[in-house]
Amino acid sequence: MLKPFPYILLLFIFQCTTIGFHEKEIRENISFGKEETIRVCLFTEPDITKEEIKDLFTAWNEELSLYQLKVEPIHLQVLQRPGFWGTDILGYLMSTPLTKDCDRLVYFKGRTWGDMAFEVLTLGIFAGVGIKLEIQGAVEGQSNTRGYIKAKYQSTIQLLFTSPKSTLIHEGYHLLGCGHQLFMKDCYEKIRDVKLLLADPERDPNFFPNLTTSGKKILNRSQVLTYSNND
Ligand SMILES: [Zn+2]
Repeated sequence: MLKPFPYILLLFIFQCTTIGFHEKEIRENISFGKEETIRVCLFTEPDITKEEIKDLFTAWNEELSLYQLKVEPIHLQVLQRPGFWGTDILGYLMSTPLTKDCDRLVYFKGRTWGDMAFEVLTLGIFAGVGIKLEIQGAVEGQSNTRGYIKAKYQSTIQLLFTSPKSTLIHEGYHLLGCGHQLFMKDCYEKIRDVKLLLADPERDPNFFPNLTTSGKKILNRSQVLTYSNND
């Protein structure tokens, strides 16, 4: 008889690290049109270096070249973390409007002593019950335009399954409207559809459009709702 536990664990790890398995042949039969650039406005914590930003964007651009897409970083500000939890960071991003040169907003989280203590704690929980509490990054689902990643980590368990580069690539797919899937076909079609929105007459010509996971078109910045952090 199959024991379900290892499979659940595998599925969990899979969900944390992979958006889906690539399907080269299917991808090569989809037309992604001409190369387009997405301007990604960036907040970083003080311990993230320029070199790290460059390396992360190089890896992301390598992946996006599959779809004739490029991301260009626009470094807005070095920030102190708005709160310890990922939800605090997402809340902060969702209360920050997209300014006119930004198509997406990304926050690179660093690594503090508090984070390291938390990693030790979650490592214990991981070893004990097979669940990994630590979240590597997230994208809000209202417009799929704002998200954060842990841009810096060397902790043992993390590097077994993931890295800042793979996290950025993963969250980068969410920033193009993709959800999680076993195989990538749906995601390829979503990216193609997002690029087709560039020709939508209702699009703000100075904004790279998006689709939400449920398929709602985001054609201008006024559809990217800003929520107050105080309620
Ligand atoms: Zn994900």
